[in-house]
Amino acid sequence: MNVAFIGLGNMGGPMARNLLKAGHSLAVFDVVQRNVDTLVALGATAAVSAKAAAARSDVVITMLPSSPHVRSVYLGDEGVLAGVLRGVPLIDSSTIDPHTARDVATAARARGNPMADAPVSGGTGGAESGTLTFMVGAEATLFERIRPLLAQMGRNIVHCGTPGTGQAAKICNNMLLGISMIGVAETMNLGASLGIDPKVLAGIINTSSGRCWSSDTYNPYPGVMDGVPAAQGYRGGFATELMLKDLGLATDAARQAKQPVALGALAHQLYQLWSAQGAGAQDFSSVINLLKQHEATPGTPHDRL
Ligand code: NAD
Repeated sequence: MNVAFIGLGNMGGPMARNLLKAGHSLAVFDVVQRNVDTLVALGATAAVSAKAAAARSDVVITMLPSSPHVRSVYLGDEGVLAGVLRGVPLIDSSTIDPHTARDVATAARARGNPMADAPVSGGTGGAESGTLTFMVGAEATLFERIRPLLAQMGRNIVHCGTPGTGQAAKICNNMLLGISMIGVAETMNLGASLGIDPKVLAGIINTSSGRCWSSDTYNPYPGVMDGVPAAQGYRGGFATELMLKDLGLATDAARQAKQPVALGALAHQLYQLWSAQGAGAQDFSSVINLLKQHEATPGTPHDRL
């Protein structure tokens, strides 16, 4: 297929590489020339704008930072809708708010182009290895049409419902993740303050009712697990500022839906505080350090207790 791929950053770059490997012809566009050059060196063709990339394509994929970028790349004068042929399917894999996703899909449909929101989870590692999960909001016929293409970049391709529901699934999951990480972090800090070895505590939690992904796969307490950001000074992983962005999307969507999200809003504020203290680039599990009142020494009950 002739694929237009727009937004070639940490996620879009490796996703586009996987489509090249699968034998597709790619017309690529990004505002950062270096990102375009990397793909051109691998066989893609550079386009001068999103409009030009879309004009020669059988399908358009975008992977952009946030909602305003998606609006301008689709609806702007040099945007996708200004150039794409009628009937060509459009796929936006950026994480954005469900309302923008629906607005842009409505504008695309009015012009004769079916559109899917297809945000991903799995991070840059999943993008590299082609094992992303795609959460797809699209009409059923469009979902069936784009599923084989998405399967060349991901392992789990899930139909969530009509346009906007892919974004809803993504921000709901990440809101729970943001909350559960804070829950595990304060629990581990409390246990250490009360004198239990954090490894023993994690073992109990992970075979008990407190178990969750943040405790058994991504434990934030240093020394409990190998191969997680907590074991490497919170480098790599999923940045605090990206979690902050997703919680902002979740709390905004909740406000518009008039749905209370008390813990989501509190989690948003705590990551905001942590980011303001200079930890935006650290993995989000580093929020455990915001919640530490003192340097807990495992095995030594705090003297105030
Ligand atoms: P990124 O900032 O590395 O990449 C975005 C790319 O879009 C950049 O190359 C940028 O130059 C380009 N861009 C910006 N404006 C543009 C425009 N007007 N026209 C063309 N290109 C433009 O971000 P990323 O980490 O690749 O994330 C992309 C999306 O995926 C975000 O919405 C993010 O929330 C989501 N996401 C990221 C991760 C992750 O671990 N990085 C995981 C899941 C989802």
